[in-house]
Amino acid sequence: MIVTHALAKRYGQLHAVDGIDLDVREGDIYGFLGANGSGKTTTVRMLLGLVHATSGEIELLGQPMPSSARTVLPQVGALIEGPAAYGHLSGRANLLLFDAAGRGGSRRTRRTRVGDALEQVGLAGVGRRPVRNYSLGMRQRLGLAGALLRAPRLLILDEPTNGLDPQGIHEIRELLQSLHAQGTTVFLSSHLLAEIEQLCTRVGVLDRGRLVLQEQLADLQKPTGRTVVHTPDAEAARVLIGEGLIEVLDDGALVIASGDAPAVNRALVEAGIRVQELAPQRRSLEQVVLEAAGSSGDRSVR
Ligand code: ATP
Repeated sequence: MIVTHALAKRYGQLHAVDGIDLDVREGDIYGFLGANGSGKTTTVRMLLGLVHATSGEIELLGQPMPSSARTVLPQVGALIEGPAAYGHLSGRANLLLFDAAGRGGSRRTRRTRVGDALEQVGLAGVGRRPVRNYSLGMRQRLGLAGALLRAPRLLILDEPTNGLDPQGIHEIRELLQSLHAQGTTVFLSSHLLAEIEQLCTRVGVLDRGRLVLQEQLADLQKPTGRTVVHTPDAEAARVLIGEGLIEVLDDGALVIASGDAPAVNRALVEAGIRVQELAPQRRSLEQVVLEAAGSSGDRSVR
């Protein structure tokens, strides 16, 4: 759905985006993760033909961009930081204006489409209020409603939960999951690890303009082949397992160099060692990202 080859953008000496190969597949919810200033917005703008790439290639829905923008963009819904809207007009009126450039249809069809989009993002009750009275979160939702008007095959969203409260974030997450279940591919940028971890199926990590990681989330989080054990009898466990096969974490948990959790459990219990918790070890997305980005790091990615 989105493929780039050696895509780059330079501003003077600054390599804002430094030769990235994105690979977003149909059916993904792709999380594009990176600290502030790592180049996410610049990338999104290049994908949509809003900023010219310095070099490299872009394909959206199998067609080259920006040369095929006219045929491709009507199938793509987009929300970029700080969605634009006329403040003196209502949310509904803004969407009607926006929709006029889109799929067309009778006045009634367009009204229904706008009403549905407002409903989907939870703005049905306030769609008639002037946008200047909207909170940041409401503006963000209005931008999302604009992106949905086209019933897009692909949604490209730059920081879609910016300015939303936890309830709003939860609602947008559910909305994106339901659109995904209906067949929409979603590409979203974020600097929030937890957001990506909860929502996405595939992850790309940008670090100072470079794509340092791109993989299915499930593969990143698969068991490491070790077992984590919490026990009040840590000393006895160390003796039983042997120093070379055991490591102690900061919180006192033991990491045992075996991925066979049932066998580890059996051995401990048979030796009379009390097991409070025992599970195969998995890496968190945070660990994966920190390793990929290097220790100099992505401190503002949380
Ligand atoms: P944020 O989350 O803060 O929006 P980002 O990951 O989206 O960050 P970009 O906005 O793409 O990052 O910026 C990447 C780098 O390019 C930054 O160092 C930024 O200052 C620089 N940059 C972006 N746009 C321009 C521009 N028009 N002229 C010069 N430098 C720019």
